[in-house]
Formats: sequence, C-alpha cells, structure tokens
Amino acid sequence: MLAAHAMTPDGILYSLKAGARSIEHGTAANDECLDLFVAKGAFWVPTLTVLDYVAEGRAKLGSTSYLEMFQGVKPQFRKALQKGVKIAFGTDAGGFDWQKIPQAREFSFYVNYGMTPMQAIQSATTVAADLLDKRGQLGEISKGAFADIIAVDGDPLQKIEVMEKVVFVMKDGKVEKQ
Ligand SMILES: [Zn+2]
Repeated sequence: MLAAHAMTPDGILYSLKAGARSIEHGTAANDECLDLFVAKGAFWVPTLTVLDYVAEGRAKLGSTSYLEMFQGVKPQFRKALQKGVKIAFGTDAGGFDWQKIPQAREFSFYVNYGMTPMQAIQSATTVAADLLDKRGQLGEISKGAFADIIAVDGDPLQKIEVMEKVVFVMKDGKVEKQ
C-alpha cells in the first residue's frame, strides 16, 4: 500500500498514476487530479489544519505561497465532494503543536468546506478504515471490531467543534479516560 506526500498537481498526478492509494496534503489538486482520484479510487487526505497553521506562520515571515494554496483549496475541496473523491481525515502528524491546536480541529475545516458533520466524522472513521483496508475492524462499533470508542461533550452533528472535547476514551475495550 502506497501513501504519497504530494502538494503540486504534477506530484499528485505522478503519484496517483504510480498507484498511490492516498495523497497526503494534495493541496494544489486541480480538476485533472480530482478526476484521477475518482478513476483510481484513491483517497485524498487534505490536512487543512496544518496547512492553515503553516500558511499563517510563513505569511508572517513574508512568504505567501502557502496562503495562496490555502485559499485555493476550499473550492477544490467542494468540487472533490461533488465528484465523489474519497476524503480521509489526516493531520500531518507533527506539523503543529497538539498542546496548542487540537488535531480534531480538522473536523471543523471539513464541515466549513462543505461536508456534513456526519461525513466529517466518517472521514475519520469508516473512510479512514477503508483507506487502511481495515473495514470491519476499525472506525465502527460492531461485532468483531476493536472496541476503540470515544465520547464527546455534546452532539457533534449539531456542533462539530465538540469533537475537540473528548471526555471518554476506550481503547481495545479498556477505559483510558472517563
Ligand atoms: Zn506533510
């Protein structure tokens, strides 16, 4: 299984043609890229939280290229949803300080960019499980699946930001946080 870390259209196209199952970032994906995602059944992992973070930081240092990419990704994200591109949740582990910015901020970006709250949650559960070829084991509460369960303080279908307030964690059937 191949995951490619690519941002430009050329990088994305080369990676998808080479058989990448997922593209991490994929920030400058153009229409040709989106169509190839669909044709290949590949997954886009847009990592919008880290892009926002990096764009802001680099803009302060005088480089606006990330800011431009960040502004360009919103319409492409909407188009990807319309075209049926599979979008999986990802954070680019290590790209920002998790003590300061919760990784779950990513959910809010997806909803602000056109997903329903349920689609956003599925991007991190069933769709992510599909990407890893672990459907039936990860990302769902069902017989035979790992008992990895969280609870949040509120109804995320009403207010997606509550995904950032995890109040209960069960890992492999064992309560880790209550
Ligand atoms: Zn990265």
